[in-house]
Amino acid sequence: MIKTVAVIGSGTMGNGICHLFAQHNFKVTLIDVNHNALDKALTTISKNFDRQIAKQTFTEEQKIHALKNITTHTDIKNGVENADLIVEAATENLDLKLSIFKDLDQYAPAHAILASNTSSISITQIAAATNRGDKVIGMHFMNPVPVMKLVEVIRGYQSSDETTAQIMTLSASLDKTPVEVNDYPGFVANRILMPMINEAIYTLYEGVAGVYEIDTVMKLGMAHPMGPLQLADFIGLDVCLAILKVLQDGFGNPKYAPCPLLVNMVNAGYKGIKTGDGFYKYTPGSKDLVVSEKFKRS
Ligand code: NAD
Repeated sequence: MIKTVAVIGSGTMGNGICHLFAQHNFKVTLIDVNHNALDKALTTISKNFDRQIAKQTFTEEQKIHALKNITTHTDIKNGVENADLIVEAATENLDLKLSIFKDLDQYAPAHAILASNTSSISITQIAAATNRGDKVIGMHFMNPVPVMKLVEVIRGYQSSDETTAQIMTLSASLDKTPVEVNDYPGFVANRILMPMINEAIYTLYEGVAGVYEIDTVMKLGMAHPMGPLQLADFIGLDVCLAILKVLQDGFGNPKYAPCPLLVNMVNAGYKGIKTGDGFYKYTPGSKDLVVSEKFKRS
């Protein structure tokens, strides 16, 4: 029975995952190596509860109760010692995840399930850093976590039926729709999404159309709520590039090669919303969608 959860990493995804579990009355320990990131996460969680209150889907009393479910830690060892489930949502970097899972295996209780929210790194490879491959699984939430319904549940090569069933049931109890997939590069979500985003960037790179035109075709023509270039900015262009490299390496197929324009943008520090500039320019406090200067057409 999963009652106590630890979340590793308190960035974009970690704070959303913590919010979700706290809202559903789990005791959650949020762990990050960075003190400021933890403070920022608590502020974000509080603000996001306020949004739910404004929409009348949550009450002030429920918010007070949910916030009391959260404790924070900067140290994995003490933070996970009582957890039944650990959801890792630290930076997307293979060596970092291998080192975190080695520590989790050492410090988490023997019965605990170790889940990763990775967008693309092999669950099987992460599991190999532990001595409990049967209890390691992918629990891939979508951004923003409190809003998006899907959880892609990724079975590593060694994940047991029991672990998979527990995570499927738990995800449903969080009011999400879990979908079980196998562990191959990009899983399902990013294997399909990233080639589309890459193709949109190639379309821009080759001068077929501008940023506004490409996104408008996909929004109005395909009923996508957001165009692929805007979505890439939202995800982070560095994250998109990292996932495309995993697909390219994993399948050895040149069709996944990242567009040179994407590579240049990331190398130059244009990473989308997180850096304030990508395909669009982002001004704090403004919701207007303004095409970045680099791509303005005369
Ligand atoms: P982020 O950069 O916003 O946050 C990562 C956090 O991890 C940072 O606060 C950092 O301080 C912390 N961290 C780094 N090393 C740590 C360690 N050793 N112990 C504890 N904390 C540590 O990243 P994010 O966008 O939240 O992504 C986190 C994970 O979720 C990644 O694996 C990513 O691929 C995945 N993911 C991201 C999205 C998205 O849209 N951003 C969607 C789905 C999945």
